[in-house]
Parts: sequence; structure tokens; C-alpha cells
Amino acid sequence: MHNVVIIGSGPAGLTAALYCARANLAPLVIEGLQAGGQLTLTTDVENYPGFPRGIMGPQLMKDMREQAERFGTEFLTGDVTAVNLKATPFQITVDEKPVIEARSVIVSTGAKALMLNIDSEQRYLGQGVSTCATCDGAFFRGRELIVVGGGDSAMEEGTFLTKFASTVTIVHRRDTLRASKIMQDRALANDKVQFIWDSAVEEVYGEGVVQGVKLRNLKTNALMDKPCAGVFIAIGHTPNTHLFVDQLDMDEQGYLLTHDGTKTNIPGIFAAGDVQDHTYRQAVTAAGSGCMAAIDVERYLESMA
Ligand code: NAP
Repeated sequence: MHNVVIIGSGPAGLTAALYCARANLAPLVIEGLQAGGQLTLTTDVENYPGFPRGIMGPQLMKDMREQAERFGTEFLTGDVTAVNLKATPFQITVDEKPVIEARSVIVSTGAKALMLNIDSEQRYLGQGVSTCATCDGAFFRGRELIVVGGGDSAMEEGTFLTKFASTVTIVHRRDTLRASKIMQDRALANDKVQFIWDSAVEEVYGEGVVQGVKLRNLKTNALMDKPCAGVFIAIGHTPNTHLFVDQLDMDEQGYLLTHDGTKTNIPGIFAAGDVQDHTYRQAVTAAGSGCMAAIDVERYLESMA
């Protein structure tokens, strides 16, 4: 039986693993088939402290993994297919392998940005298509950008991107915004923000990097070409929590609810990173909450001894 099993291998999971390993808990990380999480989908990370010249996302995750491994973290590659958190010890099933038993669990399965589901968006991910203005905005100084979406995220990202971009065009599929009044007003009042209504991105095109998008007006069916250097998709995120439905408390969007640090509603189960945070969603905040979860696990196991 394992002292602690960590589900997920983004910054939260790997930081939790590092701290658990250094506390001699011999953690097992189930790293999932997309090991390393969302940072493996980005290029330069310029806002993770300690790297004054930036670091590539995949390299940062490789280094975090190596650091956790150095202190005795064990890794298992595979997707968790079922959990029983009502059992004692907790039971975790990975693919078709035998059930793994754990005294405590850290859930750090992250979240994923919703995508438009068009082929060309995948082709240019990291080459002009982004789902994170905070991460990638600064690469587009003086360039024209598109933001897709009509909610608070799109307004926030669009407004934020005007710090760098020459213009930001928000493309929304309807003619009214979903965003809160205050966020709408801020975007509408910004001289650098323009709107294209009732439209959907049909294709992202370019040569190696993004050079523009083809938009379709959903009312008239007319096609329009819009040159741009970047396309920020801000149509929402979804937490990876389907495994925990009916076991762990979640909010209406499916984010895990935590209290007193990283505790969930089940003693011995802790949550860290984007799976429980839809507000900050940064690698450094995820890593911070992974550290908190490891310390919470250590205290929990001591209290059970
Ligand atoms: P959201 O409120 O769900 O809005 C998503 C937007 O994307 C909607 O306008 C939606 O269009 C559009 N959309 C969805 N799927 C699409 C698709 N396939 N193609 C094109 N457009 C699509 O998501 P969010 O903006 O990420 O916000 C999520 C939550 O976080 C909200 O509760 C929000 O208030 C909160 N939030 C708060 C702040 C803040 O207060 N600072 C900042 C960001 C987010 P329709 O309108 O037509 O459905």
C-alpha cells in the first residue's frame, strides 16, 4: 500500500511529489498519458520565477519530474480509469492494471481549455494559437490579435492583450456578450478593442506561424479574411474531475471544493492546482498549492499513525 498517490503530473502534482518524497513518504505519481499537463502545450514560459531568460514549458516539466524523482518519487504512466474514495484504503484503478491502494491521495488532474475543435487550431497551437494571454501575450508586441469568446475570460484576455497588441479583435458567435457588465464595459471602452459579431473561426492559416483566420458570419454565411499574428481562444475551461463525480464535492462547473488549505470533503483526499482553482490558473500558483497539499498529507498521515 502507498502512503500517498498523486494523480496528475503538472506543476501541482510534481511539486506535491517533490515535497512528499523529501518527507520520506515515497509517493507514487500517476502521470497520465499527457504527462506534464498544460505546460507541455506551451513554448516559452517567462513568468515562472527563477528563470530570468525564460524556459520552455516541456523543459520545465521535465526538470520538475527529475527533481521529484531524485528524492524517490515513483512514476506510473497511464490514465486513471476509476477511483473508490469511499473504500479504506482508497482504491485507484489505472487502465487494466491491478488496483492501487493508498492511505492518502492528492488530486492534481488539472483543467483543460475548451477548444474550437477545428483541425487548423491544433496545427498552430504554440505557433500563434494560445489559450493563455498571461502566458503568451508578451510575444505579440505591436501585432494584431484575435480573441475568440464572449464571456468574462474573453473580455479579460482581450483587454489584457491590448498592453502588447496593436489591436485586439474579439470574435463572438452571437451579437450579445455573456460577460458581466463591468468586464464588457471595460472592453467596449478600450480604443484598441474591436468586435466582430455573429461569427465563428472557420480556419486558422499561416506558414509555420499564424498569419490570419477565416471567419464565417453565422447569420449571413459570408466568409471574411482577418489577418492576425495570434489567436487567443477564451471560450472557457473545464476541470478534469469526471472521475470524482459523486465522491468529491465540486462547484457547479466541476471544480473541486477545498477548505482549510487543500482538504476535500473526504479526509485523506487533497486537491491542488487548476482542478480546484479557476481564478489564478498559473503554473506558480499550482506549484504552490501542490506544496500545500504535500504538507497537508504529511500532517494527515501523522495524525493517523
Ligand atoms: P463562459 O462564461 O462559459 O463564456 C464562454 C464564452 O465562449 C461564451 O461567450 C460562449 O458563447 C463562447 N463559446 C463557448 N463555446 C464556444 C465555441 N465552441 N465557439 C465559439 N464560442 C464559444 O467562460 P469564461 O469566460 O471562461 O468564464 C468562466 C467563468 O469564470 C465565469 O463564471 C466567469 O464569470 C468567470 N471569470 C471571471 C473573471 C473575472 O471576474 N475576472 C474572469 C474570467 C472568468 P455564448 O455566449 O454564445 O454561449
